Amino acid sequence: RKPRVAIIFGGRSSEHAVSCSTAGSVLRALDRERYDVIPIGITMEGRWVLEKDEPERLAIQTGRLPEVDEKGTTVVLANDHGGELVSLDPGSVPGTLGEVDVVFPLLHGPFGEDGTLQGLLEMADVRYVGAGVLASAVAMDKHFAKLVFQAQGFPVVPYTLIKPAQWEADPAACAESVASLGFPVFVKPARGGSSIGITKVTDPADLAAAVEKAQEFDPKVLVEAAVEGARELECGVIEGLEGGRAQASVVAEIRYDSEYDFYDFEAKYLDDETHVDLQLPAALDEQLTARVREFAVTAFEALGVEGLARVDFFLSADGTLLLNEINTMPGFTPYSMFPRMWAASGLDYAALCDHLIQLALRRPTGLR
Ligand code: ATP
Ligand code: MG
Ligand code: MG
Ligand code: MG
Repeated sequence: RKPRVAIIFGGRSSEHAVSCSTAGSVLRALDRERYDVIPIGITMEGRWVLEKDEPERLAIQTGRLPEVDEKGTTVVLANDHGGELVSLDPGSVPGTLGEVDVVFPLLHGPFGEDGTLQGLLEMADVRYVGAGVLASAVAMDKHFAKLVFQAQGFPVVPYTLIKPAQWEADPAACAESVASLGFPVFVKPARGGSSIGITKVTDPADLAAAVEKAQEFDPKVLVEAAVEGARELECGVIEGLEGGRAQASVVAEIRYDSEYDFYDFEAKYLDDETHVDLQLPAALDEQLTARVREFAVTAFEALGVEGLARVDFFLSADGTLLLNEINTMPGFTPYSMFPRMWAASGLDYAALCDHLIQLALRRPTGLR
């Protein structure tokens, strides 16, 4: 029989809508001659539901962000060897939906991209696309990611951490440690994505509001020195089907005009590329391009990422390449950077989805 692919989307994070929109695109792209596809949504409250195979409903439209259907039939992943899906329709006998051969987690942010779902799938012995428990968790947490990057000798942006107890007990001390970075700074939820909850703070008087905003998304907050005048570069990395070193895509550069202070949520998802200019490939000389691609693969391997990742860099005015972050489930609509970087490298959206599923199907379960 055809492999059964469960795509899981939505979820309990601030990136719920982005994830739904990705799922719509993946549903459309998967070759149904090759795969049986089971769409599973996770509601904002965390309930798993069987979704309809209706890509149109999941698209981001002007003025409407898609959501997982609250009224869907509850499903659970039987937490035993083999990973059977069971439907729990109220008032009826639990019914089996059969075994899943591979899960494609299209979830961004906490409870999806951070190793939690990956842990559940490991426990159930189910194959899945992308990074495992540890790499997912480390990459998601901008603080621990930096500790690992620094231990590897990768240049990172100077930062300070604000834990909720510290902020509550002594905000002045927190502010002092932030001031030692020099303004402007970027205040970020430690575990977030899509720029949600991030503020650029130029005036020290605005720090408290920015910290509190980030805390709405994560009690743990990271404050980074702003890399002023930096160029923003990104590179996609995927594993090859035949093993060996992971492969880097073309390098992309993100540019935006004065409409945006930084590459924020609006610039990422709501701009029709009037004020944002995505350069694929980036206008860099051959040597620098090679350096970025090599760095991206090295970082991917150093963190033990599997499957795919988008590695984000800053190229500072003095030519230093700083590692900003690794996203283990990067934005994945056809308009997102990761698929576009691969399309520009000769792997179109459908082929990319197929490649990732094939990688996951070949990967053994258990400790690797
Ligand atoms: P995503 O996962 O969608 O890429 P994210 O929410 O994980 O985003 P970052 O990539 O860390 O967040 O930051 C989002 C954007 O904010 C960056 O692309 C950049 O425009 C700006 N930014 C973040 N940190 C800095 C910094 N230290 N200096 C300059 N700009 C920054
Ligand atoms: Mg990120
Ligand atoms: Mg992200
Ligand atoms: Mg980023």
